[in-house]
Amino acid sequence: MLTNAPKGTKDVMPQEAYKWHYLEEKFAETCRKYGFQEIRTPVFEHTELFHRGVGDTTDIVQKEMYTFKDFAGRSITLRPEGTSPVVRAYVEHKEYAGVQPNKYYYNIPCFRYEKPQSGRLREFHQFGVETFGTTDMMADAEIIAIGYDFIKSMGITDVKLEINSVGCPGCRGEHRKALKDFLRPKYDQLCPTCQERFHTNPMRILDCKSPIDQELVQGAPMMLDYLCDDCRTAFEELKANLDAFGIEYEVNPKIVRGLDYYTKTAFEFVTTKIGAQGTVCGGGRYDGLVEEIGGPSTPGVGWGMGKERMLMTMEACGFEIPKEPGTDVFIAYMGDAGKMAALKLMKELRDAGIAVQMDVMGRNLKNQFKHANRIGAAKTIVIGDSELESGRLTIKDMESGEQTEVAIEGIVDALK
Ligand code: ATP
Ligand code: MG
Repeated sequence: MLTNAPKGTKDVMPQEAYKWHYLEEKFAETCRKYGFQEIRTPVFEHTELFHRGVGDTTDIVQKEMYTFKDFAGRSITLRPEGTSPVVRAYVEHKEYAGVQPNKYYYNIPCFRYEKPQSGRLREFHQFGVETFGTTDMMADAEIIAIGYDFIKSMGITDVKLEINSVGCPGCRGEHRKALKDFLRPKYDQLCPTCQERFHTNPMRILDCKSPIDQELVQGAPMMLDYLCDDCRTAFEELKANLDAFGIEYEVNPKIVRGLDYYTKTAFEFVTTKIGAQGTVCGGGRYDGLVEEIGGPSTPGVGWGMGKERMLMTMEACGFEIPKEPGTDVFIAYMGDAGKMAALKLMKELRDAGIAVQMDVMGRNLKNQFKHANRIGAAKTIVIGDSELESGRLTIKDMESGEQTEVAIEGIVDALK
């Protein structure tokens, strides 16, 4: 127990860390290209934020949150998603009063009490982007474009973009009524979760994963057929903008984001490469959210992307993540004077930006070389009494075996 990580969590060991670094660096780079700036918010928030921002009828709020009382009796929740905290910070810092639009990105751990399985963890990691302040479908297209660009640039060949519109509070009512009329005679056959959704959030039944429910919703009224003029025009504009960006998509009228605050645009990037949990990225527009959380009415659009699922998909698509450079130089030493000289040289080389290691295990010279080999040092140097006397060091290239002799004073330049 003590030596097992909690169920649904994963360590990233040093052998794997380079993959995460790569993903994170490339994501930050992509965001910079698109003009999104990083925002960092706390890992925990007041529980109320998620009740408001995610919605009381969602799976997340009903059964997935890590909620606890702190020692002062406040209800605290580990962030299950990234959008509500960003909105909270946006309102708290009165960002709406500044230059519009505001474009943020985040790179965060999230926590949800779910049934752990492949691609579904209790602590997982997300990238996200959000644009606030505009209803222009250009913003939706750009949000989708940055996701598309990033996913493609990570070597993911098998991915499909599916888009939909979930309408607005104005037109959703009529669809809701029609959908309930359609489902009412089938109510008893719905899964228990969807029986609940029938009352609280019937649209979510459309994207239930249960095959029986999937069968039951065949022929159900779809939101796309109920859009008001404003929502219909917006959806047409979105498609035209995506065409202009050269982005391929499919309209999937069953896409309903799991969160309550979505309006109009909803989309997912889905892959078939990693099994049942194939949604790598999901997002949409949420014009009601900022106001819901206590700010002035402000439109917003964004997405969240699972980093674990990204890495799994990249691997499944055969993308080779480049390894990071390791130790440039290993300094082997002989004798006490050699050790002190090695230590000084190590500092000098590190100051010059070179990655250097030396033995700290009291190994003999032969084992120091073995160790240098094992850690993959690119070059080795030996310092002992005779080197100190002659003032000359030999640099050995570990791959070619080639040896070069240089004066001690010239060693930094020779290695740089
Ligand atoms: P799903 O349909 O897979 O349950 P979701 O709709 O709950 O996803 P979002 O809240 O939109 O997911 O989160 C955005 C992304 O975060 C998902 O598309 C997915 O890649 C990732 N994600 C969500 N939940 C988990 C989890 N428990 N473990 C790993 N990744 C997750
Ligand atoms: Mg989920």
